Amino acid sequence: MSLLTDEPLGPRVTVRAPAKINLYLGVAALAADGFHPLTTVFQAVGLYDDVTVSEATEWSLRVVGDPRLDLDAVPTDDSNIALRAARRLLAHHGMEHRAAAMTIHKSIPVAGGMAGGSADAAAALVAVDRALDLQTSDDDLLAIAAELGSDVPFSLLGGTAVGRGRGEQLEDLEDAGGWWWVVVESDEGLSTPAVYRAFDELHAQQGTEPDPHALELPTTLVEGLVNAQVDLVGVTLWNDLQEPALHLRPDLRRTLEDAGSCGRGAVLSGSGPTVLVLCASREEADAAREKLAGLGHERVTAVPAPVAGVHVVEHA
Ligand code: ATP
Repeated sequence: MSLLTDEPLGPRVTVRAPAKINLYLGVAALAADGFHPLTTVFQAVGLYDDVTVSEATEWSLRVVGDPRLDLDAVPTDDSNIALRAARRLLAHHGMEHRAAAMTIHKSIPVAGGMAGGSADAAAALVAVDRALDLQTSDDDLLAIAAELGSDVPFSLLGGTAVGRGRGEQLEDLEDAGGWWWVVVESDEGLSTPAVYRAFDELHAQQGTEPDPHALELPTTLVEGLVNAQVDLVGVTLWNDLQEPALHLRPDLRRTLEDAGSCGRGAVLSGSGPTVLVLCASREEADAAREKLAGLGHERVTAVPAPVAGVHVVEHA
């Protein structure tokens, strides 16, 4: 009997992982370890990547998805974070000899500031765990997730949470829920390290220090989330990376202006270039989506939040 390399050796498991947005992103001065300490409020939104895994005799990775996404920017070699996650999990179990065939179906914008790569890594951890029956504890999955990247633990958990440190120290945040966001994508991605460099350069040029209160969680935002006060949340949205991202991509200023003309508040998502509009209802989000499409924004989607973290959608 010949063993074809793509012949599955076990069940096929598909795991879905949500994109994240930041309702608040406060960034402190660069620390000695080369990272910026931050305080952020994460929310998982209804825009998902799916990762499908089955055990195989050799490693393989396919990336598919919406042709409007920049899929060519997603590596298919060992630098892909989902593949790194899978290998790291097997190493944790001392099972480096096993391998998997993996397909990533992307809907989350690439280099869009919505942690698409982190979502893939989180989904890959759970998909490999289930497909290869590794029975990893949740604590170990979370620890491996934090080693892979600062946003990966939140992708596992979903919901709404405060992230501290580099974003990996998570604490659940009470959220009355029922939010709707309009996601305005950009044709071109933005590199997260480049945006952090611009943050440092802008402060150096202006002779200013990052806000010493940046790491304090805004109490008005917490209040708005607990009491489902959409206008309060809308006016509290804040992102310290917005100015540096606009410095690198001045065209986003118009997108933010257009976004600010609908809904209850607009903000850049993470390191950008995706722009978010907070809306009070699905109807308001649909109206905002149509208005933004009419203003020439081509990739605009209405999504609910908060949503669950990674979850198995198929086990065949
Ligand atoms: P973040 O907000 O977490 O900084 P992002 O959402 O801006 O990230 P990603 O889509 O996660 O950006 O990708 C950033 C870069 O990581 C890409 O440009 C790509 O080169 C690399 N990359 C590695 N693995 C993946 C993956 N599975 N999906 C997307 N990009 C990946």
